Amino acid sequence: MLFIAPPRIRHLVVLHVGIDDTDSMERMCTTYVATEIVSRFRGLDLIGYPRLVRLNPNIPWKTRGNGALCLRYGVGQGTPFHVGRIGGERVEAYPRSGPVEANEDLWETCEDVVMELADLEDPEAQPGLVVTRRKPSPGLYWRAVTDVVSWKEVEPLLSLVDFYLAPKGMRGLIGSLAAISWRPRDRTYEVLAYRMQERWGTLRVVREEDVMALDERFPTTFNNYDHDNRHMAVVPNSPCPVLLGIRGDVADDLHRALSTIKCEAVDRWILFKTNQGTDEHLVRRRVQDLRSNISAIVEGIVSARPRVLEGGHVVFPLDDGSTVDCVAYEPTKAFRKIVRELYPGDGVRAYGSVRDIPRSLNLEKLDVFELRQIVVKVANPRCLSCGRSMKSVGRAGGFRCRPCGAKAPPDAAEFRPLDRGITEGIFEPPVAARRHLSRPVKRMAFSRQGEGSGTLRTLLTRP
Ligand SMILES: [Zn+2]
Repeated sequence: MLFIAPPRIRHLVVLHVGIDDTDSMERMCTTYVATEIVSRFRGLDLIGYPRLVRLNPNIPWKTRGNGALCLRYGVGQGTPFHVGRIGGERVEAYPRSGPVEANEDLWETCEDVVMELADLEDPEAQPGLVVTRRKPSPGLYWRAVTDVVSWKEVEPLLSLVDFYLAPKGMRGLIGSLAAISWRPRDRTYEVLAYRMQERWGTLRVVREEDVMALDERFPTTFNNYDHDNRHMAVVPNSPCPVLLGIRGDVADDLHRALSTIKCEAVDRWILFKTNQGTDEHLVRRRVQDLRSNISAIVEGIVSARPRVLEGGHVVFPLDDGSTVDCVAYEPTKAFRKIVRELYPGDGVRAYGSVRDIPRSLNLEKLDVFELRQIVVKVANPRCLSCGRSMKSVGRAGGFRCRPCGAKAPPDAAEFRPLDRGITEGIFEPPVAARRHLSRPVKRMAFSRQGEGSGTLRTLLTRP
C-alpha cells in the first residue's frame, strides 16, 4: 500500500485521467490522444493545464520519450485561463474544482479515444488508461521517474480507481498512475502544435529563421534550435501528428512564441505543464551504488586522461573511491571537445544514465567544479654566475652549468601553467542531443539569477 495517499477530501474534487503507452515508434503520440479527449469530452471542466509527465528515460521497453499524460476534470472554480485551441475553438481550464462525482461519460469518451487511436498492432505497446478521484501519492512519480516500477508495486492501487483499461497488458497502467501522482515541484511548459490529419507522415513545413529567432525573442524558452548542427529541435523526427513543440518556463510566453513561427496549417495546439528540463530523473549516487536502468549524478576526480574510442566517443575514468567510465557519445558533438580537455585530478560532477555492459555513465551534462592547475617546464634555468643555459642531470638531480660547474635544484627551471582550454562551469551536449528530462544549463543559470533579480523571479513564479 506504499503509494496510496491518505483519503482526504481534497482527493475527491478532481477526476484524474492518466494515459500511457498509446504511442508507437511510427504512428501515434500520447499527447495527441489527450487532445482528442479534450476535444470530445465537454461534460466537465478542465482543471489546470494538461500534464505531460516524462518517466525514467532508461526503461528498456520505452517508446520514444517515455511520456505519460494526465488530464484533470472537475467543476471549475476561479477565473478560467487559455490552454489551447482545437478545431477553431478556444480551450480553457480552471485553477480549482468543486466536488465531483465519478463520471461514466468521461470514462466512455476516454475508452473510445484510446481504443481508436492507440497502436494496438504494435507488439511492444501496452496502452493504459486510468480514471480516478483518488490520487496515488507523489512517491509513485518519484519512483517511476528515477527507477523501474514493477506491476506488483502498483497493483493494490487498482481497487481504488474509478476505471481502468489495459487491453494488452498491465504495463501502461504503471505510467498512467505515475503521471496522475506527479505533484509539480520544479516544472516547465510545452506548447504542442499538431498537423492537419491529411499531412501526417509528410515532410513538415516550418520556417527555420523563425525557430532560430526564438531564443532571443523569448528568453524563457529553451531547446529551440541547435545552432551547432543547424537543426530545429522544436520539430520532431518521427512521422507522428506533432508539428512542433516549444518548451519554456513561462506558460504565457509559449503561445505567443508559437504565433511567431510561420508554418503549415495548425490543426490544434495545447499547452502542457511538464517535468521536462528538470533533471528529476537524476539521483546523486556513489559509483559503487550505480546499477542498470537508472540515471545518476556522480561526483569525483578524473583519474586518467580521456581517450577517444572508435566511432568518436570520448571516455574518461571518474573516481570517488570506486571508478566508473564516463562516456560522451559521438552525437554529443562539440561537448566531446570539453570532455577531452580534462586532466587527472580535475574535480567533476557527471550527470548521466547508467549503461550496463560495459558498465559506464552516458554523459548528459558535466559540471567541472575544480580544474587542477597543470604546470609544464618551458626552459632549463640560466646559470647565476655566467648566464648560460644549464643542463639537466637526471630526474632528481637538478641542473648543472657545464662551463663553470654551478648547480641548481630541479625547481629552478622555468615553468608555466598549462593553458587548460576550458574553464570551470557546467557543460551540456548541443540541443539536438539532449534528453527531455535534462535540465538545460540555460535554465540552471536562469533560476540562479532569479534568486537575486526581482524581474526574473516574477517571470519564474507565474502560474
Ligand atoms: Zn655558469
